[in-house]
Amino acid sequence: MREFLQRTLIGALVVAFLSLLVWGALGAVEALSLALFCVLLWLAFHLYHIALLLRWLRHPGSERVPDGFGSWHMVFMTLYRQARAQSQNKKKLTNVLERFISAGEAMPDGVVVLDEHDRIEWLNPSAVEHLGLNRKEDVGNQILNLVRQPNFHAYMAADNFSQPLILRFVQPSERVLAIQLVPFDSTRKLLLSRDITQLERVQTVHRDFVANVSHELRTPLTVIGGFLETFADMDEPDPAMLKQFMPMMLEQTRRMQSLVEDLLTLSRLENSPKAVPNEKVNMDELLATLRTEAEGLSQGRHTIVCEQRSRRWLWGSENELHSAFGNLVSNAIRYTPEGGTVTLAWRDCGQKAVFSVSDTGIGIPREHIPRLTERFYRVDRGRSRGNGGTGLGLAIVKHVLARHHAKLEIASEPDKGSTFSAVFGAERLAEAERLGQP
Ligand code: ADP
Repeated sequence: MREFLQRTLIGALVVAFLSLLVWGALGAVEALSLALFCVLLWLAFHLYHIALLLRWLRHPGSERVPDGFGSWHMVFMTLYRQARAQSQNKKKLTNVLERFISAGEAMPDGVVVLDEHDRIEWLNPSAVEHLGLNRKEDVGNQILNLVRQPNFHAYMAADNFSQPLILRFVQPSERVLAIQLVPFDSTRKLLLSRDITQLERVQTVHRDFVANVSHELRTPLTVIGGFLETFADMDEPDPAMLKQFMPMMLEQTRRMQSLVEDLLTLSRLENSPKAVPNEKVNMDELLATLRTEAEGLSQGRHTIVCEQRSRRWLWGSENELHSAFGNLVSNAIRYTPEGGTVTLAWRDCGQKAVFSVSDTGIGIPREHIPRLTERFYRVDRGRSRGNGGTGLGLAIVKHVLARHHAKLEIASEPDKGSTFSAVFGAERLAEAERLGQP
C-alpha cells in the first residue's frame, strides 16, 4: 500500500515539476496543456487496467490474472496470489470432501442423509442394499414413501430416536435391521441402518441352547427332588422304598453327568485353538479300543463286526477322534435293537480314507438327516432320553470332524439301519508305523 502511494505521489510530483519547467520556459498555456495531457494519459492508463481487472473478475481463474504496469502490477500480483491460495484451498476441501464421501460409500452400515422434509439427499450403497432403494431414482423422494413398514412410520413420527428400531424384512430375503435416526444441523437427519441378521441368529441359538440345557436338567432334578422330598417327609426312611428309588435317582444323576460331560466336551472343542494337534493316531489301536467299547456297551446283545481294510493312520488329535468315533459307535448300539449287527469299518477310498459305523437299527427318516448334527436335535426325544442320550453326540462329532477337515456323511433308511461315515482327505492320512519303530 505504501509503495503504491509512493509511486502515485512520485508520478504526480514529476508531472508538476515538468509543468513548472515548461511554464518557466514556454509559458502557462503550454504548461497547463502538458499537465492536462499527463492527467489524460494517467486516466487512460488506469481505465485500461480497470478494464483488464473487470474482464478478469468476470472469469476469475488463477491462471488468467492479467499483467499490469506500475502500481497495477502490484494489484494484479496480489490478486494472483489470493486467487492461487483460494484455488489451493478449494482443492484441499474437495479432497477432504471426496475422502468423506468415499468413507461413507465404503461403510458396511447404511447411511441416508434426509432433508427437513425427510427427503433423501444422499445415500450410500449399503443403504441401497439394506432398504431396497435406488440411488438414482430415489434421491429427492420422501423416505416414508419408500420404506413402507408401519413401525418405521411410527418411529419417524414419534420423534424419539434414543433407541434403535428393529426392522424385519422377509422379502427378498430374511433380514433384520437396526435403524437409528440421528438429527443434525437443526433440520436434517441421518438415517443409519445396520444388518443384525447374523447377530440375531447367534442370539437365538444362544437362547435356545440355554433353554434346552435348562430343560434337559430340569427333568432329572425334578425326579431326584421328588424322591428326596418323599424321604424328607418320613421320620425314618423306609428301606424298601430306598431300595426301589435309589437306582432311579442314580440313573437321573448319571444322565445329568453325561449331559454336563458332553457340554464340557463341546465347550472345549469350541474354545480350543483352531489348529488341531498333529499327533499320529494309531488307527489299528483305536479300532481295537472302539471294538472293545462297543462290546462293552452291547453286553452281548449285538453282533459287532470290525473291518479294517486300510492300513493307514491319521494325523490329528487322538482324544478328539476317539470321542467322535466313540459317539458314532455308542449311537449305533443304542439305536439298534437286540440281535442287530454293528459294523466298524476303516477303508481306503481313492486318495481318501473313510471310518464308518453301520448298523441294522431303527434308521432315520430322510427329512431329519440334515438336522441331526444340531445340538439337542433328536428324531425321537423319548427314545433318545430312554437310552441315555444327551442330544449332543453328533454335534460333538461334527465339531471334531470339522477340526480335522473331514466330512460326516449319513445314509439311513427307516427300519433298515444307518451308516455314519467320516471321510478324511489325503492331507490327514499318515503312513502306519511298525511297532517298535520310532
Ligand atoms: P442322542 O444323544 O440323542 O443320541 P446324538 O446327537 O448322538 O444325540 O444323535 C441325534 C439323534 O440322531 C438321535 O437322537 C437319534 O434320533 C438320531 N441318531 C443318531 N444315531 C443314530 C443311529 N445310529 N440310528 C438311528 N438314529 C440315530
